Amino acid sequence: MSDDCHSPGRSTSGQSQSLDEFGLIQRFFVDQNSYSNVWPFQGIGDDCAILELGCTRLAVTTDMMALGTHFLEDADPFTVGQKALAVNLSDLAASGATPKAFFLSLSLPAVDVAWLDGFSKGLLKEAATYNCPLRGGDTTKTASVDGKPGKTCFSICAIGEISSGPAMTRAGARAGDDIWVSGTPGDAFACLGEIWKEFTVPSRLLPYFKARMETPTPRVHLGTQIRHYASACCDISDGLVGDLKHILERSNVSAVLFWEDFPRSEQMSLLPELVQQRCILAGGDDYELLFTAPRSVRDSIEEIGKSGGVKVTRIGEILPSGIPLRILTKEEQSLPVMNSFNHFA
Ligand code: ADP
Ligand code: MG
Repeated sequence: MSDDCHSPGRSTSGQSQSLDEFGLIQRFFVDQNSYSNVWPFQGIGDDCAILELGCTRLAVTTDMMALGTHFLEDADPFTVGQKALAVNLSDLAASGATPKAFFLSLSLPAVDVAWLDGFSKGLLKEAATYNCPLRGGDTTKTASVDGKPGKTCFSICAIGEISSGPAMTRAGARAGDDIWVSGTPGDAFACLGEIWKEFTVPSRLLPYFKARMETPTPRVHLGTQIRHYASACCDISDGLVGDLKHILERSNVSAVLFWEDFPRSEQMSLLPELVQQRCILAGGDDYELLFTAPRSVRDSIEEIGKSGGVKVTRIGEILPSGIPLRILTKEEQSLPVMNSFNHFA
């Protein structure tokens, strides 16, 4: 059966070939119907949907992952399990939610006991670390393709609670706000870029970068603290500049970033300047929080970072809309605004 049978409303003119990940969501899945008697909701386009259930607000996110697309085929199943949950917890963190439960859907080509043993142990270790129990899911067999086994895919839906006070979304950044980032973005891509042979990394530095790629730290505690101060927030999954663009679009503003102010791990600072730019600006898989906040709360944010043991760094400023996004060096030179990862780009 052709794909078109499953795609009501899709043009048969071949136009669909030019739709990227965000274009296709916008075109096919932004629902214009009106509904009555449903939970009030903040629109599609944020890291989580925020649903209001009486006095309670729930943040809900789901991320689908496949071996071979989001993970190397031969990745250690323990870290695959850990990261599968971590990336969802990172979306909850970007809303400022406290994790409460998750659901796991698995599609397996075959029952590989050793793989499942590692995956489940990693997954449940992450669940225990962040106090987010598994509450259900679904399991199915991946169909084979041309006689070859299909891919292992899994989808996690994580739910968090937002107690009284604001939730964070990607909308809300205002001209004059500072732009902040947690941790040291770029480290994960320093490993992936080396694997893809985009550049080489000295072998003594690889174990650090590999650990950052395989076991990202969802900034759950930081998210719950900064939500009282931040004007907008997202987590960095596809690359810092690309994810910043989501905040800029949703908030209808622009920005300037100051390259020398970006935080760098000791290991990153040993790589050539151009490799640093590629990894930090457009690498992705960081799962750090990128957020904006008024200047008046600088001290509070510094204090939250210090008390939680998470580095937080100011890297730029929000500007009014209509000005192009720029990344400036201290010599006032503009760096290229590199594209980030986009499925179907
Ligand atoms: P993230 O990187 O934080 O997981 P994405 O960039 O994948 O977020 O998604 C952007 C927004 O689009 C989110 O609000 C997400 O819920 C929404 N979205 C993604 N895919 C679909 C889909 N198939 N149907 C409806 N909404 C979607
Ligand atoms: Mg996200």
